[in-house]
Amino acid sequence: MEYDFLIVGSGLSGSTLAERLSHKYKKILLIDKRSHLGGNVYDEYDKNNVLIHKYGPHIFHTNSKEVFDYLSNFTEWIKYEHKVVSFVDNKFVPIPVNRNTLNLIFNEHLKTDEETSIYLDKLKKNIKIIKSAKDVVLSKIGKELYKKLFEGYTKKQWGINPEKLSPEITKRIPIRINCDDRYFSDLYQYMPKDGYTAMIKKMLSNKKIKILLNTDFRNLDKKITYKNLIYTGPIDYFFNYKYGKLNYRSIYFEFESYNKNHYQNYPVINYPDEKINYTRITEFKYLTGQKINKTTIVKEYPQSKGDEYYPILTAEDKKIYEKYKKEALKLKNTYFVGRLAEFKYYNMDQAVAAALSLSKKILAMEV
Ligand code: FAD
Ligand code: UDP
Repeated sequence: MEYDFLIVGSGLSGSTLAERLSHKYKKILLIDKRSHLGGNVYDEYDKNNVLIHKYGPHIFHTNSKEVFDYLSNFTEWIKYEHKVVSFVDNKFVPIPVNRNTLNLIFNEHLKTDEETSIYLDKLKKNIKIIKSAKDVVLSKIGKELYKKLFEGYTKKQWGINPEKLSPEITKRIPIRINCDDRYFSDLYQYMPKDGYTAMIKKMLSNKKIKILLNTDFRNLDKKITYKNLIYTGPIDYFFNYKYGKLNYRSIYFEFESYNKNHYQNYPVINYPDEKINYTRITEFKYLTGQKINKTTIVKEYPQSKGDEYYPILTAEDKKIYEKYKKEALKLKNTYFVGRLAEFKYYNMDQAVAAALSLSKKILAMEV
């Protein structure tokens, strides 16, 4: 049997494409090497019936009406505005840095945006050309806060010196002069009411989509043929590492269950101290809104080995990626999309946006 499309990877990228293309094409095969659907947004109920995110905390946020409307076809939402604190100098301070963070760390009494702005101007380092993730932070809040809040966390998270990391990594985190303590400021900030796995299952409910789990692209039965390929796995693996390995950061997730209502007072606590091996602790109940008298937390220990989670954006890696991209563009009827295949630090909404855009392109062609 020949499929119209083989889609490798059932994360948000692969699932969005499968869903979109199933409106036009009859034979779509979606495969994943893991034993479940959903890629990194997969969630499940643990032994205590607490809804957990198997691959770390996932909070949906977007400014894109198109993405929000699209996903709303497959889930209802609950309102959730994420909050994070960082544990420094034995205090819990809001992150991203806002006026309260400065007041708490420096024992100040800044009261207005203007006062805060002037205060920050004195802390900022004047850097003419921003070359790294470190420069971004120094140029906005200066050395002392960089050392307290960013240096240790970034070293642990990425395993390399922040001077070698691309600016876009820390540009994700704003600096605020007001007291807004939300982690994101996007227009739409919601969590899927029944979780991400339920949403993905709905996306893939069309009978025209056949699903094969526990199936690595490399080991796919040779008898299975297809006219077009959409690949959402690591691009260097696809090309047998011919230009060298791309660096992706992995994480070991350590889950702990407690027979009490709450473990900590905040949804996420970041630990920038380098002596503590994990980067952050998340208590899922805050994110999911689940009402249950037990609780589960996860500690994240970044590591180099294991499943690929974060593309490590250094100048060298970007150069290698460009070589693979050039090679990918030469292939007919083959498309690369998603966080791993495009080697981009996509949030969920950006992964969906990229997949929607590719689906429009394909649907407009006669393939
Ligand atoms: P993935 O979800 O990685 O899916 C790729 C799939 O391809 C996987 O299921 C994999 O098993 C499969 N695959 C790979 N290679 C093969 C192969 N050879 N054969 C078969 N199958 C293969 N985004 C947010 O917006 N908010 C957040 O709070 C957030 N938190 C995050 C926290 C962590 C710890 C991580 C790692 C990411 C987070 N993200 C968050 C980003 C989000 O996970 C991604 O944007 C999104 O899941 C990308 O979807 P994808 O389909 O491109 O990739
Ligand atoms: N970061 C940091 N300290 C913090 C929060 C973030 O140093 O308290 C840096 C770190 O390098 C991190 C990056 O900013 O990888 C982006 O943070 P974000 O919260 O967006 O990371 P993610 O949730 O994607 O892991």
